[in-house]
Amino acid sequence: MEQLNYVAFYIPVLFLFVGMEWLWAKYKKQHVHAFNDSVMNICCGVADRLFDVFYVVISLFIFSTIYEHYRIYTFPSTTATWLLLFFVADFCYYWYHRCGHTINFFWAAHITHHQSEYYNLTVAFRLSGFQAINRTLFWCFLPLVGFPIPMIVSMLMIHGVYQFFLHTQFVGNLGILEYVLVTPSAHRVHHGSNAQYLDKNYGGTFIIWDRLFGTYMPEKEPVKYGLTETFESQNPYWAYVHYWQDLYQASTYLPNLSSKFKLLWDTPTRHAMIMMENAEKKVPSNSINKTLSLLVPSAYITVQIVCTLGILMGMGLFKTYLAQLPLTISFYLGAVVAFAALNCSLLARPKRWRWQLEYVRLLVSAAILIFCSSLVFSSDILLLIIPTISLLCVVCIAWAIYLQYPSLPTKQPA
Ligand SMILES: [Zn+2]
Ligand SMILES: [Zn+2]
Repeated sequence: MEQLNYVAFYIPVLFLFVGMEWLWAKYKKQHVHAFNDSVMNICCGVADRLFDVFYVVISLFIFSTIYEHYRIYTFPSTTATWLLLFFVADFCYYWYHRCGHTINFFWAAHITHHQSEYYNLTVAFRLSGFQAINRTLFWCFLPLVGFPIPMIVSMLMIHGVYQFFLHTQFVGNLGILEYVLVTPSAHRVHHGSNAQYLDKNYGGTFIIWDRLFGTYMPEKEPVKYGLTETFESQNPYWAYVHYWQDLYQASTYLPNLSSKFKLLWDTPTRHAMIMMENAEKKVPSNSINKTLSLLVPSAYITVQIVCTLGILMGMGLFKTYLAQLPLTISFYLGAVVAFAALNCSLLARPKRWRWQLEYVRLLVSAAILIFCSSLVFSSDILLLIIPTISLLCVVCIAWAIYLQYPSLPTKQPA
């Protein structure tokens, strides 16, 4: 039991807060959630966490190498070091985040976090799986100056959790704290597409960096959330990469290789100008379809997401145990989670082919889970597991068919 990684319980704890915010919004009769949007946010987050399970090994290796061979100084593990690390890490975050908005190469990953036109705790989950690569580039500064790796890892977790709680509309102005900390109000401004709110409030924990470097803006008029152009896709993986296609399209209007390459390091504003000059600007549309949400099989998707989060949490909880098993098991379980993140989100705006893909997903996932179980468990436990997984798969397929053809169960007149 001591091998269990209890940190994985952050998943149900964060979702407890998501549930509380949802209930509070219902009670207050405030429309701060849309089902398909929240599902998309969660699915982006599920895929991001999955990327992270594999990616964390690489970033730890990079941090350790820098610390072992290239550190400038060695900080002792004292309270003063913790405090200093808190400030230095937040300072790194400010520049990482500012570059994320002002350089196309970094914006291509960070854009995912800003696509939602709603603002609630689930928006905090909406992160690109590729953002971790950019983040590591900036965090490398911490082992380089000599902060111990375990302290860095703990600090980054605290930093991440703090930012989760910023994504809510139910905390107003916090008075004197607005001068020192990044508050929900300050971060709401950061998510605004109102002209005066663009490229403001980059801070993670302290707002002092924004005040110092001239990017601070208090919340005055109501915030219009999202990007300046609507992002409509329900595909989390497309949300991760679509800006690369936009960049490619803009680069085709540029004359030579060096100007195309320069665009990567230019600003998103420059990209928008190139698109506008070439009359390729997409027509803004408000078709994030509210009426369509009536057709969304919300109970079905919720059950599928809960199961997927269960597998993801299990992978985190039994991390040490999984590491002792063949690596293929982790990859297969990862594939089940990745496929679920895609399909749960797609089904939040159902189309016929999305249902066909769902049947394939259920069958493939059941086959993978049975296969992985057969590698891990003894035959007498398998006698229980195989029929259970098969039965659950059949029930889900029957449920999906019932949702796809809602007119089927109606009785014929006698
Ligand atoms: Zn941002
Ligand atoms: Zn945010």
